[in-house]
Amino acid sequence: MDKKIIAALLPCAAGFAVFFSLALWVAKGSPGPAHGSGVSNGRKVAYRDDSAAVSDTGADVTGTSDQAVPAWPASDQAFVRVSDYAPDIRVNLKYAGRHNFTGKRIYDFRDAWLRCGTVKKLIKAQEALEAYGMGLMIWDAFRPAEAQEVLWTVCPNPLYVTDPDKGCSDHLRGNAVDVTLVDADGIELLMPTEFDNFTRLADRDYSDIDNAFAVENVKLLEKVMKQSGFKTSPEEWWHFTDSKSYEPAPTFVPAS
Ligand SMILES: [Zn+2]
Repeated sequence: MDKKIIAALLPCAAGFAVFFSLALWVAKGSPGPAHGSGVSNGRKVAYRDDSAAVSDTGADVTGTSDQAVPAWPASDQAFVRVSDYAPDIRVNLKYAGRHNFTGKRIYDFRDAWLRCGTVKKLIKAQEALEAYGMGLMIWDAFRPAEAQEVLWTVCPNPLYVTDPDKGCSDHLRGNAVDVTLVDADGIELLMPTEFDNFTRLADRDYSDIDNAFAVENVKLLEKVMKQSGFKTSPEEWWHFTDSKSYEPAPTFVPAS
């Protein structure tokens, strides 16, 4: 080919390459400069700005899958410590520390407690996520009545917190759980918002979320939790309730 023609074509080719790269970047969804990204089990993922496998309370959030799992209680109604039966599920209870919207420590235990039947469903979800190189991290599980009173005092909005005088939070029944996604190392993945974001960004209409990674992650979490037997909350992407209900447990006291 004539050298003049090649010289004329070169800028066009370079321009096309830049354009193509940009189009691919936009199509994949830019994670934005504030978020880290990487590859987990062959799937491209994005992390929260402040993601790290650390607990808000200083407790160990790392799963210990080599521990012996005790025999299941006879009844699905029994309360169990989640980590006893599902050691691979990370636990980082937000209300056990001060990194929550109240700025206060709401309860004094660090382990997640739930009904036995609910834990069995959570294990099903965890196993489904492990196929993607992911897992669950629990932000809140059983929540005592006194804790609900404190949350209502700070946030008296029935859209986000159940008024203790008008109803019972499913967290007091021990069949509701607040969860997010982590990668195989326990690093939190990017989701539409942080925990207890009391805005419309936290609801299940994801059309206002401009990060494709966050939407993909939250949709996967929702799909897996539903398939495992949980119902969703319209206002909070992190909240899931076991489709089987239980009576409130106002007298249950979790071991700390
Ligand atoms: Zn919840």
